[in-house]
Amino acid sequence: MLFPLRLPIPEDVLEIAKTLEHAGFEAWCVGGAVRDTLLGEANSDFDIATSAVPEKVRELFRHTVPVGERFGTIAVRTRRRHHEVTTFRHDVTTDGRHAVVAFGASLDDDLARRDFTINAIAYHPLRHEWRDPFAGAQDLERRLLRAVGVAGDRFREDYLRILRGLRFAARFGFAIEDETWNAMRRNADGLRQLSAERVRDEWFKGLRTAGSIPELVRLWWESGAAAVWIPELVRQVGAGVPAATTEGSPGVSSAGRTDSLSGGIGTVTGTRASGEPRDPVLLTTLLCLVPVTVLARLRASNAEIGRAASMLAGPSEPESPAPIAVRRWLAAVGGAADDLIFLWTMRHGIPPVWATMVAEIRHRGDPLTRKSLAVNGADLQAAGIPAGPELGTLLDRLLSLVVEDPSLNTRETLLARSHTLRESRG
Ligand code: ATP
Ligand code: MG
Repeated sequence: MLFPLRLPIPEDVLEIAKTLEHAGFEAWCVGGAVRDTLLGEANSDFDIATSAVPEKVRELFRHTVPVGERFGTIAVRTRRRHHEVTTFRHDVTTDGRHAVVAFGASLDDDLARRDFTINAIAYHPLRHEWRDPFAGAQDLERRLLRAVGVAGDRFREDYLRILRGLRFAARFGFAIEDETWNAMRRNADGLRQLSAERVRDEWFKGLRTAGSIPELVRLWWESGAAAVWIPELVRQVGAGVPAATTEGSPGVSSAGRTDSLSGGIGTVTGTRASGEPRDPVLLTTLLCLVPVTVLARLRASNAEIGRAASMLAGPSEPESPAPIAVRRWLAAVGGAADDLIFLWTMRHGIPPVWATMVAEIRHRGDPLTRKSLAVNGADLQAAGIPAGPELGTLLDRLLSLVVEDPSLNTRETLLARSHTLRESRG
């Protein structure tokens, strides 16, 4: 690949580079933004590598945040955003999870400790020079992911690099160079040493950015990463595989996962071009048997785990597209309705017909929750019903009535019905 004469560098990044260079230090643009810009993808999140030590960086800029000072990283705040400025460093010791780094390294030392050749290209934003000691530009052109240096050594220094590699390969649709791929597979067992949080971040980022989710899933399985961290992951997500049935498959939950999924995931969420940001919790729920277990293992937040649990708590779809069935379903699944519609769409490749009915019901404002009843607990008490658990049960029974027939949702009718319901209960 011929390097472009100039890379478009945002003004605030140039300012940072100028300040460092005027103070006598080197400042180079490195990392993902250089890679992405060379690939023609917009990314203005430029990181800067510098010969200045962290204390110097903090002296030179007015607004800084020591995001990882021990590792040499200071975030410099500009009018627009933060940019990470990291001192050239080399590794002193590594143990597969953490590195002890030393400063006083050169740009080339610094590039040599980076993970993949495509991530080890540096550009000088003022002199417009390129530094690419591992021929990363050629790999970009060949669409090839290759570790910097001896792949096995690099993965044993930090096993997270294996997962990063799977993510980049799936994101760009790059092939993985043989030696790199073999080393990933040979070292997959070392992934056990990683913290769940780092694995989750990688898994979520992978889901958000994959050019093809089926490819990401395939890579997680074939590398051995899925067996170590997410054995509940579906084996295969195939375009063209018949739609997975959502009910009645032996041994699967009511949300109906099977070992393969229909084309929806490959098409609808399969490209980042679809615009909407992907939701990793939803996708994990779609792609995993027992997603709650997976999310808990990956130490997702309680809110995220709870969200997956509520998707599985009720029926995955209404019994029929009839208004009454859809209202019953909406009342039963509550806040999980939109997530369930998304899952259905992903499994089948098209939105369900009853989604239109959901929209109509919402548009009309049909009562679906206790709160939307024309009477509340206080009204019932005023009408002579004693406070206590009976009151709650009664409200639920009134809700069932209006879900069946929304026209019953008037104060008069519900008060009258409360009395008959109590009497019939005896
Ligand atoms: P993106 O931000 O799009 O996920 P990126 O390549 O910018 O991709 P970052 O995590 O932002 O990834 O890291 C910036 C750069 O730091 C990488 O391009 C790479 O050069 C280096 N790097 C990050 N993590 C590692 C790692 N675990 N081992 C070696 N180098 C790494
Ligand atoms: Mg980045």
